[in-house]
Amino acid sequence: MRKLELIAPCHFGLEAVLKREIERLGYAIVEVADGRVTFAGDEQALCRANIFLRTAERILIKIGSFRAESFEELFQGTKALPWEDYIPKDGKFWVTKAASVKSKLFSPSDIQSVMKKAMVERLKGAYHINWFTEEGASFPVRVFLLKDQVTVGLDSTGESLHKRGYRKLVAQAPIAENLAAALIMLTPWNRDRILVDPFCGSGTFPIEAAMMAAHIAPGCRRRFTAMEWQQIIGKGLWENARQEASDLVVRRMKPDIQGYDIDDHMISIARENAKMAGVDTLIHFQRRELKQLSHPKKYGFLITNPPYGERLSDKEVLPELYRTIGERFRMLDSWSMYLITAYENAEQYIGRKADKNRKIYNGMMKAYYYQYLGPKPPRTRGEKTGEEQ
Ligand code: SAH
Repeated sequence: MRKLELIAPCHFGLEAVLKREIERLGYAIVEVADGRVTFAGDEQALCRANIFLRTAERILIKIGSFRAESFEELFQGTKALPWEDYIPKDGKFWVTKAASVKSKLFSPSDIQSVMKKAMVERLKGAYHINWFTEEGASFPVRVFLLKDQVTVGLDSTGESLHKRGYRKLVAQAPIAENLAAALIMLTPWNRDRILVDPFCGSGTFPIEAAMMAAHIAPGCRRRFTAMEWQQIIGKGLWENARQEASDLVVRRMKPDIQGYDIDDHMISIARENAKMAGVDTLIHFQRRELKQLSHPKKYGFLITNPPYGERLSDKEVLPELYRTIGERFRMLDSWSMYLITAYENAEQYIGRKADKNRKIYNGMMKAYYYQYLGPKPPRTRGEKTGEEQ
């Protein structure tokens, strides 16, 4: 197998979580930059990363990197890359996305067309043909320019990794699945602890948590662009990774994961989504409004994405809503609470400053992840840990 450098873009602010996930998968980190983590791997790593990583946006093969301050330099730099190592004669290739930060070249459409021309020139020389039918597999290219340094990657994923395939039905303002997974991973929650999302909407937090509890790989039931790349990635490699994923699934357990919402319709959507994800038996969804939130046990976690006014409800209801969040949370003995919201007065109305706070970009919107930390449960002898069956 050949050595590859793989680039995994992610949400801004979540690089550390993704880095940890990649290390746990067994790969060495090459670089962590804003919004992306680069690591060393091979073709098998590419399949495993697509199938197993919960917090990445996609997986790119790094084709190369060079400086370019002019279109001529961009053309020459692109032409110098070994495209024929990846793209076959009949491949369909194009620059699907160009992002530029603090660089002289910034027009995405110009960057895209110059690079495409350069790739054509390179491949003409390599294959000794003048015309490309582009009827074969797809090879979408992504490029980032940062301070005139051009990084070129081949997208192996296609539709973004946050699309696990289970969420056909969504709420008005759903949280991306990979963001929800990362936010859960930022907490000490594990499947022996209680998790409640009192504003569950389409069920993203409970479903992601249940998938983690059951060790269900997020990408085990979807397709990836690189599944068409037969000349690069042997079919066996995808099968190996899928087999590994299915061997890891844990079925015998009963986690305490609950999702509530005031809206009946959302609850039926959440149940439908959970079924698609194969975790409906692991979650209890119920119509319940925040005012009724309670739980008899100690040491649980609220992990949630409450309304924040921009897209959902009117700003006027927010003070009362956040006051109620604070009240209900105070009644939950020894619980922790984690909430992501763009509502800037959240802490004020909750009535307590968060112990920790983290800036997160939810799409283009700046949000905060407020963390109210409860005590750790005492360890009892013979207690199961999250990793045991
Ligand atoms: N994270 C969710 C989206 C949450 S949107 C997802 O990924 O789909 C906020 C949700 O809070 C909405 O579904 C709304 O119906 C619910 N909600 C609003 N006010 C509520 C209240 N007082 N009690 C319970 N749920 C409420």
